Amino acid sequence: MADSPEAFVADILAKTHGEADPVLARALAEVSARLVEWMADDLAVPLSLVTDFPYPGHSSFRCHTVPGRIGTVLLDLLMAQVTKSELIDMYVPARLIDVLAPDGVVSGVIVETPEGREEIPTRAVLLATNGFGANRELVQRYIPEIAGAVYHGSEESTGDALRIGAKLGAESAYLDAYQGHAALAMPSATLAGWATVMHGGLLVNSGGERFGDETQGYSEYAKESLAHADGRSWIIIDQRIHDSCLSFQDFRDTVETGGVRWAGDAQALAAQIGVDADGLKKTLVRARNAALGTAADSFGRMSWEARWKAGWAPSPSSLPSSTPKAA
Ligand SMILES: Cc1cc2nc3c(=O)[nH]c(=O)nc-3n(C[C@H](O)[C@H](O)[C@H](O)COP(=O)(O)OP(=O)(O)OC[C@H]3O[C@@H](n4cnc5c(N)ncnc54)[C@H](O)[C@@H]3O)c2cc1C
Repeated sequence: MADSPEAFVADILAKTHGEADPVLARALAEVSARLVEWMADDLAVPLSLVTDFPYPGHSSFRCHTVPGRIGTVLLDLLMAQVTKSELIDMYVPARLIDVLAPDGVVSGVIVETPEGREEIPTRAVLLATNGFGANRELVQRYIPEIAGAVYHGSEESTGDALRIGAKLGAESAYLDAYQGHAALAMPSATLAGWATVMHGGLLVNSGGERFGDETQGYSEYAKESLAHADGRSWIIIDQRIHDSCLSFQDFRDTVETGGVRWAGDAQALAAQIGVDADGLKKTLVRARNAALGTAADSFGRMSWEARWKAGWAPSPSSLPSSTPKAA
């Protein structure tokens, strides 16, 4: 299918319900294809296009990945290029404490290293210290709807750029924007991943009940999980979905650390994971009907992979719930 920056921007604006900054969205969409080509051609990052399932909100296949489909591989490859480059000096460990800007003109920075504080003269600084997810107080202040969730990002994301930028008189915006994830497996603290859902899986609460259209996205669903499942839900998958997700290192880690439970039927699965058996049975029957297209999904979910996969024809033998598993 042909793709374009216009189509990408339309997807972003639709998924964010018109809240995204259209100028910024346009700028990022315009540069996205060139960025992917630069990473592949100039930085030798072995990128490939994900085509085995659609990411939520994307009308075209445009998400790229690296072998293992995990961020650490990408970071290692980028670090190798940084180390090779004569244009970049790494100064690690060093924490940016402040930016010096007497009379509004940047003249240097103060950094803290294990040896103490030091001043480095510079005429320009790019503040790129990520967000403030690790700062509970700021999360509570700006994004109270997600303050009760488990934080699974870098402990260094304490909002230093926000603090320093505000001191310099910079404006801030979109402080309530965040990336959530409703598929963090516990207690292993590994990502089961949303490919489970996009391949056909569904989420249930302790009543064995679904609580929304899971395909709206893993970030959006974190809030739903907090509201309807106390932040603890189960992803129900079968063997086909399990096998489809093995291309993700995170999913393999989840399996290897015991995050997935197997059972032969809904009753046994409910007993294993401690959810209501009648609720789970009803949920699986309803999901089966929705996937078959014989009944409308009560949450309006339209994406059931077994239905959209080319060549799939509704027949009981191809139902996705023969051997349920949960993650
Ligand atoms: C579990 C997980 C899975 C993810 N999966 C995906 C995915 O599949 N695809 C995707 O596109 N994105 C994914 N993301 C999101 C992606 O990792 C981030 O969007 C991206 O890393 C943000 O880049 P950044 O450079 O803004 O911040 P970061 O990558 O966080 O870099 C900021 C750096 O600044 C440093 N720092 C902070 N404060 C200071 C200070 N005061 N002084 C000096 N240094 C400082 C930090 O240590 C860090 O190294 C995932 C994130 C997580 C947590």
